[in-house]
Amino acid sequence: MLTRRDFLGTSGLALAGLLAAPARARRAPRDLPFFEWKELRDGVWATIDQSSGGNVAVFLGARQSIIVDAKFAWLSRTLRREADQLGGADSRGNPERPLRLLINTHHHADHTGGNIGFSPDMDVLAHENAAPRIENQFDAYGRQLDGAIESMERAAPDNEKAREEAAELRRVRVHFEPGDWVPGRVAKGERTELDEGGIRLTLHAIGPGHTDNDLIVHSPERNVLHAGDLLFYKRHPFIDLPSGASSIGWIESVKRAIALCDDQTIVIPGHGEITDVTGLRGQVEYLQALRTAAKRAVEAGTPREEFLGTDLPIAADYGFEQIKPRAFGAVYDEVSAGK
Ligand SMILES: [Zn+2]
Repeated sequence: MLTRRDFLGTSGLALAGLLAAPARARRAPRDLPFFEWKELRDGVWATIDQSSGGNVAVFLGARQSIIVDAKFAWLSRTLRREADQLGGADSRGNPERPLRLLINTHHHADHTGGNIGFSPDMDVLAHENAAPRIENQFDAYGRQLDGAIESMERAAPDNEKAREEAAELRRVRVHFEPGDWVPGRVAKGERTELDEGGIRLTLHAIGPGHTDNDLIVHSPERNVLHAGDLLFYKRHPFIDLPSGASSIGWIESVKRAIALCDDQTIVIPGHGEITDVTGLRGQVEYLQALRTAAKRAVEAGTPREEFLGTDLPIAADYGFEQIKPRAFGAVYDEVSAGK
């Protein structure tokens, strides 16, 4: 039986070295078929996919790299292997600029499930409020891993390596503990300056928004901003009131993100396509319009059920239609409670 120690021994660098084909080309993404990686700007990569969890960004430095968000648990090994290769690899497949830090934009399991593939041999960093919430999601992560083989089978039936990685995670799943997902580093306060091997990022925590632990990850040098789930670009947003969400706070947070941008800033949403500052403005407009509509409905005595079915013209072409009733219900409840 494989112990957790054995598992860790075959993860990360060792795994990349053992499994990677010799003489892998430097333009790694062409050879890495599971995720579609795009270079947004020199040394900044992202993968945008609506079925594998939140959008991921990778910031490359001279000798190491940083990854932002980690998708679902069943993808964790595949995600790490591919992201590790974005900075090039030597003739034996060892990454030239290996990942050294994972930043979670917030605790939701479609952004942190993959932590298991990175921790503990790599630093994981999140907002201080995220850590206990991540620890409490052990059952959700376990379910992601229980279904690892089937999930990968559906997502990539022809990708033998990714299927092996998912099967391996499923095999060692019993050895995992809640603490294995929990970040070892936390960001406190409104602003955290990072300099990791020359990669400089600023983390902004404005207050309750999508949750009570949102981090905006900003690279002023490269003029790229990962908004986490403070931005659902052209999609109805998940407003997680039990995790401390606030539509008023959310608007304030996005306004602060807008203030960090100019018209060249590349903005990575938590969900949806890559955008720019106009995407952030659209998020503010959506939330403001939804609050206005909810206030009118509450004042007019419109029942909650009826309000869930109303249309918001600004969001006529928005995706995540299945989330719409929850978003509308959350704001109706906030407004009803005088928030
Ligand atoms: Zn989220």
